[in-house]
Amino acid sequence: MKKLRLIVTTKCDKNCEGCCNNQFDITNLPTIEPHEMSQYDKIIITGGEPMLVPGRIETLVYYLRKFELYEGNIIIYTTDLYSIGELDICGDINGITITLHDDDDLYEFEDTMRRYLEFNDTWLKNKSLRLNVFKGVRLPQKEYLKDWIVKDNIEWLDNCPLPEGEELKRLKNLL
Ligand code: SF4
Repeated sequence: MKKLRLIVTTKCDKNCEGCCNNQFDITNLPTIEPHEMSQYDKIIITGGEPMLVPGRIETLVYYLRKFELYEGNIIIYTTDLYSIGELDICGDINGITITLHDDDDLYEFEDTMRRYLEFNDTWLKNKSLRLNVFKGVRLPQKEYLKDWIVKDNIEWLDNCPLPEGEELKRLKNLL
């Protein structure tokens, strides 16, 4: 399976000590246009924090789906689950990967899941849901994890090797 890891922004409101983006120059990455993305089976939208530029995500995904430029899976990597539910194109994405780096991320995740369950929301249904939890951060309460595949005790990796089959590229105009 050929996957595109797509950097859509360099913005982030966190400052993680092992952030991969500090280990290379993002501006030197190859760029890709939406009409070139059909060669990949999966697009992984990442940053920075993609949910700091929600309009950019909505425009990209709307364009890919509306003009039938891309039929594969679209996954968003973020720390901000709440904002995914607010996206106009939430129904067009196939998966969400949340990473909990610290207690702030953990409390936000639990708060969003608490409200999701309380209001009988449905926007997470039929999506692939993965939760990465860094070492030292406790797991969210069990009741919130029913639909999530959890990987815990995550640690920073030197030089941030890309998983096999993935290519790292960026949008041309980074915000
Ligand atoms: S949340 Fe992600 S992009 Fe932001 S500083 Fe941490 S590792 Fe880097």
